Amino acid sequence: MIKFEEALKIVENSAFILDNERVDFKESLNRVLAEDIKSDIEMPPFDKSAVDGYACKKEDLFNELEVIEIIPAGKVPEKDIAKNQCSKIMTGAPMPKGTDTVVMVEDVEETGENKIRYLKSKVKNNICYRGEDIKEDEIVLKKGTLIKPQHIAVLATTGSVNPMVYRQAKVAVFSTGDELVEPDKKPSVSRIRNSNAYQLLAMVKNAGAIPEYTGIASDTEESTREMITKAFKRNDIVILSGGVSMGDFDYVPQILEELGVELKFKSIAVQPGRPTVFGIREKQFIFGLPGNPVSSFVQFELLVKPFIYRLSGFNYIPVRINLPMGKDYIRKKSTSLSWLPVRIYDNGEVYPIEYHGSAHINALTSANGLISVPIGQTILKKGDLVNVRQI
Ligand code: AMP
Ligand code: MG
Repeated sequence: MIKFEEALKIVENSAFILDNERVDFKESLNRVLAEDIKSDIEMPPFDKSAVDGYACKKEDLFNELEVIEIIPAGKVPEKDIAKNQCSKIMTGAPMPKGTDTVVMVEDVEETGENKIRYLKSKVKNNICYRGEDIKEDEIVLKKGTLIKPQHIAVLATTGSVNPMVYRQAKVAVFSTGDELVEPDKKPSVSRIRNSNAYQLLAMVKNAGAIPEYTGIASDTEESTREMITKAFKRNDIVILSGGVSMGDFDYVPQILEELGVELKFKSIAVQPGRPTVFGIREKQFIFGLPGNPVSSFVQFELLVKPFIYRLSGFNYIPVRINLPMGKDYIRKKSTSLSWLPVRIYDNGEVYPIEYHGSAHINALTSANGLISVPIGQTILKKGDLVNVRQI
């Protein structure tokens, strides 16, 4: 059995980055940039008004001003501004020649036909200056960026309509267990519904990869072998749950080895999720996660998610914050690193969620973070600062 940190390192170091492809930027959400994005224009491309108002010379501001033109956004001003003149200007419209200030509509009174007067004593320029946000040829998005909506805005503004991104990992998911029925069936006595596969498929999708569900393998060597072979057929990664611990019908590790998979580890000193398996076959990877839903969730979050991201060129660093415990937490054994599902309350305190063990399927629904308790430590005291990893 290896330590969790060692397992994570093995997983991370096994990843290689997939190929590139160009995509329509509108379809690039949650993809990872495989190139730096440069701007072909300055932003703003011209000095423009930041408000709806009147463009004038600052030195004339406290005189009565004559309004000589109305400038809508998208129009080039026709008239230059001379002494004691101004043009009415809309937000985003180019500044007319001879001006250095825009006063806001709200701060002005009309004193006659096409005459205005500024009512305030303070002066602000209210101009967005040419090139102040983006210079021409400047790198605006770096290779390795995970594309979110705000990045799509930058792709749009710089005309980067076909960005180069990394290929999405293709990930097969299946479950093992004779006790499992699919969610649309009512389980008879001694059976339960297959929840892991659907949780894992959703997690794969959330991590930006393409999931494929290949079904449920029964607890026989033959069925396990067939399902692993099928899952490997057209995928980069296989994730299975169940059949990896010490039960009489837990065939997964043995069959993986038979099928030429090099097992990098078969168990980790971690709670929950000790019987977690990771293996490599040429350029394909397999994670065997424990059958208990909390364990498979936590180990996906800790090991599989960073791995999937890495394959697609993104260095995933989870968001972590230090917050105080809301009450004491005590555990009996301290031979494993333990990851506890917690809830951060509105007052910023952290509470371990009520949790009857790793089979407690609905425990995670109220959790919004995970905290770790290191090997050798049994107590977290109320008020102790803990490092919460958001989920
Ligand atoms: P195993 O790792 O196969 O020994 O399974 C451990 C526990 O998780 C058992 O109680 C199983 O019934 C349960 N389990 C296994 N697979 C699933 C699944 N796909 N969905 C829900 N529970 C499961
Ligand atoms: Mg099983």
